[in-house]
Amino acid sequence: MALVLFVGVNHHWQTTIFACALLGRETEEDYKWCMEKFLACMNNVKPGGILTDQCPSIEKGIKYVLGADTVHRYCAWHILHKLPGKFGGQDDKVALTYLVKATVYGARSQSEFEQSWRTLMVEIGYDDAPWFKSIFRQRRKWVPVYLNDRFWAGMNTTQRVESMNSFFDNYLRSKSTLSEFVVNFESGLSRIWQREHYLDHKDKSTKPVLISDLELEKQFCRVYTNEIFYRFQHEIRQALNLTCVFRVQPNDNTKVYEVQDISGNSFAVQYKVDLKEVFCICKKFEASGILCSHSIMVLKHEKQLVVNDKYILDRWRKDRFRFDLIPAGCPDGSTVEINR
Ligand SMILES: [Zn+2]
Repeated sequence: MALVLFVGVNHHWQTTIFACALLGRETEEDYKWCMEKFLACMNNVKPGGILTDQCPSIEKGIKYVLGADTVHRYCAWHILHKLPGKFGGQDDKVALTYLVKATVYGARSQSEFEQSWRTLMVEIGYDDAPWFKSIFRQRRKWVPVYLNDRFWAGMNTTQRVESMNSFFDNYLRSKSTLSEFVVNFESGLSRIWQREHYLDHKDKSTKPVLISDLELEKQFCRVYTNEIFYRFQHEIRQALNLTCVFRVQPNDNTKVYEVQDISGNSFAVQYKVDLKEVFCICKKFEASGILCSHSIMVLKHEKQLVVNDKYILDRWRKDRFRFDLIPAGCPDGSTVEINR
């Protein structure tokens, strides 16, 4: 039987489990059933996005049940992992793989990606290769620059599912009976909940050390869980290595800055004067909910001491109301998140 795991990210940036299913077969019909049951578990609230590998049965199940309300994304790692095989007996397949990955992850706009991809394919002589043409046709489903204007909690690969699969390998055996599966699966779940519970308590008793005098840093430290705050703090540290140049003012309300890193890469950041909002071309905030170093640099330049509520996501806050409960079979309790 196949174990299907629905995983996501909790407020400590940990992998968490929303649901699981056991499938006797992996046909389109089975995945339709699986998605219908998942949706019912979620009170019929469809996810904004779902990330899977390129399995046609899963894709049809998702399309049938979730439709256009959910963006379905392919795992970029699974696609790029096939590259060495696609370059066959080429001596320089390591270098070629590196060039393709750099094109996929280095593009800052869709037009830049399309131009770089076409140029690269001609240069390396793969512009007519069917597999490369096929993944380029499907680019809107897996290349980050087409998907990062939507929230993915930092996920662009199915790595979290893989790590959950190996985590459950410690609890499950292929020859286990169904009743053993239920007991052992709950033991695994209990471990995950305990881990989350532990960090909830740890956040209440420890406070991160600040690295700057920025009011912005204090603001995020006050509201975010430590793990999320450290990710934001990393961006502040990165901002120390950036330079920022005011480039143009398209109108009275919008300023455009060019922010450069030490490697010479530049990022255009728009600043809306009336709303005090920043929009960086890297889309880190939109995709992961963490303000990027380029935006922080512009906010510093604009002498904006604190950010408005838009940049404080409820899902990363430590003060969001949560209550403890003890689910059946879980000896040590869990944390369930509800809206206030
Ligand atoms: Zn940025």
